[in-house]
Amino acid sequence: MKNKKIVIVFLFIFMLVSVVMITHTRFKTEVKKQSREIRNTGRSLVKLVSLAYDRNLEKADKNYFFRELSYLVSEQDIAYLVIQDKQKPEPIISFFKEDVQEQIPQEIMLAALAGTGFQVQAFTTADAAGYLEFVKPVFKDGRPDVVVRLGMAQPSNRFFTLENFVLPLQVMVFILMALVSGYYWVFLLLKPFEKFISAAGPAPVPEKNQANVQAMVGELESFFTLIHDRLLTAERETHQLTAKVQVLDYENTQMFNIFNSLDFGVLMLDIRDTVFFINDYFLTLLGRDRQAILNQPVFDVLDQEELIAFIQQQNLMESGQNTTSLELAFPGGKPDQAFLVSFLSLTDPEGALFGRFIKVTDVSREKESERSRQEFINHIAHELRTPLTNIKAYNEMMMDGEISDLEMQKEFFNTINEETLRLDRLIQNILKLAETEINQLAVNKQMVKTDWLLESCMESIEAMSQEKNITIETRLPDNLPKISGDKEMLKAALINVLGNAVKYTPEFGRVTFSIRDNEGAVVFEIEDTGVGIDPRDLPHIFEKFYRSENDAVAEQTGSGLGLAIAAEIVKKHDGSIEVKSQLSQGSTFIVTLPKGNLQIG
Ligand code: ADP
Repeated sequence: MKNKKIVIVFLFIFMLVSVVMITHTRFKTEVKKQSREIRNTGRSLVKLVSLAYDRNLEKADKNYFFRELSYLVSEQDIAYLVIQDKQKPEPIISFFKEDVQEQIPQEIMLAALAGTGFQVQAFTTADAAGYLEFVKPVFKDGRPDVVVRLGMAQPSNRFFTLENFVLPLQVMVFILMALVSGYYWVFLLLKPFEKFISAAGPAPVPEKNQANVQAMVGELESFFTLIHDRLLTAERETHQLTAKVQVLDYENTQMFNIFNSLDFGVLMLDIRDTVFFINDYFLTLLGRDRQAILNQPVFDVLDQEELIAFIQQQNLMESGQNTTSLELAFPGGKPDQAFLVSFLSLTDPEGALFGRFIKVTDVSREKESERSRQEFINHIAHELRTPLTNIKAYNEMMMDGEISDLEMQKEFFNTINEETLRLDRLIQNILKLAETEINQLAVNKQMVKTDWLLESCMESIEAMSQEKNITIETRLPDNLPKISGDKEMLKAALINVLGNAVKYTPEFGRVTFSIRDNEGAVVFEIEDTGVGIDPRDLPHIFEKFYRSENDAVAEQTGSGLGLAIAAEIVKKHDGSIEVKSQLSQGSTFIVTLPKGNLQIG
């Protein structure tokens, strides 16, 4: 009998503990769910009210707005809603559903008035009720004008309340009653056999009764298993939820980092043109702070009228039609930087518009190359036109029969011939440049004998050097090394350098062409006793179309392309070209090319 009592007491305690545990798990999950819902609702409602509020509403509209607000407060779980001027403590509009007005701490109100963006603040009143206040400033002329404050009661975190325990206690009482009545039912069934039991000691329980008892124990077992399973499921769900939130958090951070590391600006707007994302690049261009821009209407935070007009114009277009772009400078960019703004409507898979994407790319480099392309074309046009005009003029004079003197005629023909050659040289140079630049002519690598290069170069300058009485001296090593490269290209490069040496050296001067074998490289040194190069010109002479303004240079015909081509060819062969010069003394050009490895006889 005593054992039975102990079992019942234990059973009772066990059930009580189970009830408390189950209730606690349910309570925790419920509180979390409610808090999340409150935050979501509060955030959406405060934004909605701040978007709808306009200080300058007409009277009729104002009444309508007030009515809608009071309806909203009464329908939703809102404790209070206050619209307040940033400068004054008296509210413009206030609705208090709960008795909390006097209990909102002063610092909560001050913080709400001081903030410039969306904020959420929590506070507890004297009677231990928790509240969340959602604050959103409304902007006017780019400044926060009024604030919308919306309070919502937090779910109570008091666990030991009657409310929490009503249902589990009912279940427990029911089970206890079932157990007690079951026990007495078994007891009554066994009553007729009591005297046999006492006479013959413990007798076997009739089979039917035994089955009933077993069924009852089985039911009890499955009931506890059910409770246990529910507990496990609730715990698993909580873990899964936490994991999902963490994954979402991580993904958000990753996206944020990716957008911030882009080398172009990104600004994303929601359907109401409020900024919901801006990356670091765009912020730098605007020279603004992220906090001052996020969650603000885009037209309030942008200064450039052109950009505002562009976005407004794109907004009016149907999604998918935004193909135009705008070229613009930004305050945070460098003075010579040019940017291209493009616009994209964001639509969901069903085609519904949910936001807009504005991209800003630095196009300075493209603009610069477009500018130099244009310059290049202008130069070529100019260089072609000069000799052609001369040829045309001399030719016309000859055709008109104006020149009867044979000597004069010869001179005219010579001039026409010279101009034709100049034209030919220019065209050859342009073609070479085009080939090397566009890379159409691949370097046809082969083993090039240095003596062949030397002979070809000497041949090409022979006539000019003889005409000017310039001595060409060669200094060569015992064994002329070989180079791996394109022989025609290398020949063109060296002729341009050697040709310049003769061209820019006055009569009776001297040009020395030496070749050195320098371990892994072959060094060509072309030294002249010519006009020399002004130190101001030195950094530019390898640029396309650059010619010194020095009179001694201007006297000679030239296009400013020879050295640019030579430098390009040398670069293609992994070599280098350098120059040392002194004005009126002479110049030395040093071309270094890697030696070839193959042995060709
Ligand atoms: P150009 O057709 O004018 O000779 P280049 O590209 O060959 O064009 O040379 C560019 C400029 O470099 C020349 O206009 C000249 O000012 C300078 N220059 C090149 N070689 C010499 C040199 N040997 N002596 C003096 N100036 C030179």
